[in-house]
Amino acid sequence: MVRLQVTLETPQHAGLDTTLDYLSEQSLAPGTLVRAPLGKRELLGIVWSGEAGEVPDADLKPLAAVLEGLPPLDAAWRALVDFASGYYQRSLGELALSVLPPELHKLDGAQLALRLRKLHKAMAAPPHQTVADPPPPPSPEQVEVLAALAATPVATPVLLHGVTGSGKTEIYLNAAAQALAAGRQALVLVPEINLTPQLEARFAARFAGRRIVSLHSGLTPAQRLRSWLAAHLGLADLVLGTRLAIFAPMPRLGLIVVDEEHDPSYKQQEGARYSARDLAVYRARLQEARVLLGSATPSLESWQRANEGRYRRLALPSRIGGALLPRVRLVDMNQQPKERGGAAALSPPLVDAIRQRIARGEQSLVFLNRRGYAPVLHCADCGWKSGCPHCSAWRVFHKLDRTLRCHHCGFTERVPRACPECGNLDIAPIGRGTERLEEQIIQLLADTNGAAPRIARIDADSTRLKGSLETQLGAVHAGEVDVLVGTQMVTKGHDFRRITLVAAVNPDSALFSSDFRAPERLFALLMQAAGRAGRSAEHAKAAEMWVQTWHPQHPLYAALRQHDFAAFAEGQLKERESAGLPPFAHLAMLRADAKQAEAAQGFLQAAADLAAVLPGADQVSVYAPVPLPVARVAGVERMQMLVESASRPALQHFLAAWVPALHGLRRGGAHKVLRWAIDVDPLSI
Ligand code: ADP
Ligand code: ZN
Ligand code: ZN
Repeated sequence: MVRLQVTLETPQHAGLDTTLDYLSEQSLAPGTLVRAPLGKRELLGIVWSGEAGEVPDADLKPLAAVLEGLPPLDAAWRALVDFASGYYQRSLGELALSVLPPELHKLDGAQLALRLRKLHKAMAAPPHQTVADPPPPPSPEQVEVLAALAATPVATPVLLHGVTGSGKTEIYLNAAAQALAAGRQALVLVPEINLTPQLEARFAARFAGRRIVSLHSGLTPAQRLRSWLAAHLGLADLVLGTRLAIFAPMPRLGLIVVDEEHDPSYKQQEGARYSARDLAVYRARLQEARVLLGSATPSLESWQRANEGRYRRLALPSRIGGALLPRVRLVDMNQQPKERGGAAALSPPLVDAIRQRIARGEQSLVFLNRRGYAPVLHCADCGWKSGCPHCSAWRVFHKLDRTLRCHHCGFTERVPRACPECGNLDIAPIGRGTERLEEQIIQLLADTNGAAPRIARIDADSTRLKGSLETQLGAVHAGEVDVLVGTQMVTKGHDFRRITLVAAVNPDSALFSSDFRAPERLFALLMQAAGRAGRSAEHAKAAEMWVQTWHPQHPLYAALRQHDFAAFAEGQLKERESAGLPPFAHLAMLRADAKQAEAAQGFLQAAADLAAVLPGADQVSVYAPVPLPVARVAGVERMQMLVESASRPALQHFLAAWVPALHGLRRGGAHKVLRWAIDVDPLSI
């Protein structure tokens, strides 16, 4: 019998070693998948190259099975997982096993062999399309970018900065073609599941005869396993997916594309809080693959790295076919007529502009980042407001089904007929969400040429039923809608051909958020939204982006008017540098949840006390514990504490000592926290 180290999904807080020792009849290569007994259960595990433990051979259990037929996960994959586990401070076993397809955990050797046979058979069948669409001749800008790309060493990450419609995807396709021609695999990441079918169709048309699989959480467990196996066995040439695809084993990986690299959804928000974008850069180095980060509004982290020369920046400054970017018009809301209860939803000039579009048979898109009818109901007599009993948040009034709904915990009740405190019958909505906006737009446009304008609303409420989003988008594409109202859901990716006006109704709040990344997100959102207008050349001249603001002088809007991302980034980076914020500093956030705020705070305070005496403590600052912006959700109090360092290695060094100490603190039992977690490079503060 040989003694092997195996990593298993053990509970994060159990404090077990990174690997456990088992006995095996045969020596197995690291990366081999096995099934191993743990307590009463039998778990999927991976043979790892670790240090042997101290338990004597006689006390070790033998492995239950070896998953034959699967080549071992290669050294590059294991190095990626090792790095991610260390960097994001999660146990190796938890990370390694949680990024494998869920279905793999359930199969025994025989079942797996069956799946493999099916996969090989399916892959042997000829693909649908056999004749590839030829690529269009590249534009002069694309020619320049492609030449620069060819001249850039593979080891240098490339940041492709190009406005929407500038032909970035063509560059990805070209880079993928080169990787494939060299016998390598390509991985293309997109932020949202919704965007994968569109992209898949485009890649399939270009790469006829090649095997393309997608990998995201919207697949059935069987489909996801199938795609994963195809990637791992090297049967798939192209893998398209969301953030979880960054962990797809790909033995011949030669290219990683991260489209919309600034998008927050690349950051996992639970468990191991990894950034797929950052891991893409790390992984590319491990596998000597080219990494291409693309965006119209790059993250300031990537932008700064390009400024420092660590990334190569390539630009596609204009839209394909010479189409202009929409003209940005700011409406100064201070100058607009006031009505009872504040300004109208849409200012008079904006209403006129939408009317003109309707008269010309063009479409408008109006967005507001708040769903429901109104964010709160209010009694003017006694001051009652529709708070949630379980959260420190208001419940949102939904008029359509007459409910008050908490968007944090889901608690829902029928709207009371009268004020629950004083019986006043006159309780009124305050503020506006998309439902109310839709109603107000209908009123404002009512007398347009006699005919009632056709209005559609797209948000999380109107698209709850499966297929309803597709139906509504279909109606917009078919020209059956004059004005589309929605949340930021409608601003991403969709290729609307007839929209010539996009309006942001009330985007100001992000200017004054306590989260230092709020302006960066707002700018990206507005640029993205502007990109929905004038996408077809015949309409591009009439395209406009309207922004209603109480702060028309704000530098963010000045940069937006010029479509000047560089100016915006420069301003933000100056502020970040003087405030000691990322990318000039490195952050980690410790979060704690408890029934009582005092307990959460006590845990964080004890963690801070521990931190003070650790080696390297002088290189990090630990801030005071503070409640989250919405402190209580579903009866749980949530607190957080920021850790900051000017040096990434110093922060990592500190965390490596601190986090194990925190496990000890929790086990000590003195602190009644429900859970705690560390978020390295947190995105929302
Ligand atoms: P992005 O990814 O930057 O939004 P795309 O690559 O999707 O841009 O290009 C926008 C549109 O222009 C697409 O319809 C695409 O097919 C087209 N396109 C891109 N490059 C060319 C080219 N060189 N010649 C003709 N059309 C192109
Ligand atoms: Zn009242
Ligand atoms: Zn609630």
